[in-house]
Amino acid sequence: MEPEQVTAQPSRNVWVLAECREGELLEVTLEMLGDARQLADKLQGQVEVLLLGNQVESLVPRLGQYGADRVYLAEHPLLERYLSDLYLPVIADLVRQHSPGIVILPATANGQDLASRLAARTGAPLVSDCVIFKLGSAGELEAVCPGFGDKVYVRILLTGSLQIVTMRPGAAGVEKPKKARTPEVVKIEPGLSPGQSRTRLMEYLPGDPRLIDLVEADRIVSGGRGVGGPEGFKILEQLADLLGAAVGGTRVAVDNRWIPFERQIGQTGKTVAPKLYLAIGISGSSHHIMGAKGSETIVAINSDPNAPIFKTAQLKVCADLHEVLPILVKKLEGLTGKTQG
Ligand SMILES: Cc1cc2nc3c(=O)[nH]c(=O)nc-3n(C[C@H](O)[C@H](O)[C@H](O)COP(=O)(O)OP(=O)(O)OC[C@H]3O[C@@H](n4cnc5c(N)ncnc54)[C@H](O)[C@@H]3O)c2cc1C
Repeated sequence: MEPEQVTAQPSRNVWVLAECREGELLEVTLEMLGDARQLADKLQGQVEVLLLGNQVESLVPRLGQYGADRVYLAEHPLLERYLSDLYLPVIADLVRQHSPGIVILPATANGQDLASRLAARTGAPLVSDCVIFKLGSAGELEAVCPGFGDKVYVRILLTGSLQIVTMRPGAAGVEKPKKARTPEVVKIEPGLSPGQSRTRLMEYLPGDPRLIDLVEADRIVSGGRGVGGPEGFKILEQLADLLGAAVGGTRVAVDNRWIPFERQIGQTGKTVAPKLYLAIGISGSSHHIMGAKGSETIVAINSDPNAPIFKTAQLKVCADLHEVLPILVKKLEGLTGKTQG
């Protein structure tokens, strides 16, 4: 299909695609809003949010608190969960009608899928998985994104009347603007029919939280050399299961093949920003902390009172992990009613 040309006057408005799961906004939506607000203020434009879903209007005030001036709200039972055949026409129509200058989507599985389709549909440039946005001297968007497994960073300048980017979750952190807004709500009648989608979502099977991408995890149980070996990681897995957390670790744990490389956190691993980061038997080297310092709360369990991790952690447990973890697991089993065998 030939791309549809977006021909209206160049716009200063910055759009954000809100992503929700189970009726809640994903944190990355608030992160995107922070960057969108800064860009729009510099461009003297507006921050406008696309909110698609089923009965999601209650999320509008939160979008206002984080900087949205206007929300395009499309509610429909068929929009309950993401399906590209249904989301794309609604969003592409809005883009055609209102001609935003920049559209920011989350670099999640759904956001990446939608961004590439939107770029193909509109003929706009797309840069994926960005971690920093700036404006060039002529007001064009400059995006920084990691390449070669995060070993290098590249700066890319986008041109054209519409520029599309996706933003890596956890890259920016959430910043609440000083001024909350009451966004104008523009309700959209999506006019969708079940036959419009060539795919149908049959069932939503929640994955094992221990294996979800660390970048998207709200809670992480992370282990280092102190864990002692792959056997030692078994109790971390149990703990993670009880907490609904993902499992990660240090380079030492990866180099010793106790956990796979995609579970490494730090300078040469993943950069994470969970609400809870449980660092177990981890010394807290700068190379490791670099990847975990965006965590809201760090809890460290370490037997060495001088371990550097205690300088970063908010909750410090100076003890042998082999004594503490079984107690913790038992307590959580009691609280959750789940048993770990
Ligand atoms: C260029 C470069 C890039 C790097 N990138 C990364 C990276 O991305 N990620 C990363 O993690 N590292 C990275 N490293 C390695 C990093 O410098 C550290 O060597 C590594 O993070 C240390 O891992 P650790 O904390 O598991 O081990 P250690 O530093 O050996 O710490 C083990 C800790 O466990 C504690 N401990 C031992 N037994 C117990 C017990 N029974 N109970 C409680 N606590 C106990 C000890 O007191 C100690 O503090 C990089 C290094 C370089 C040079």
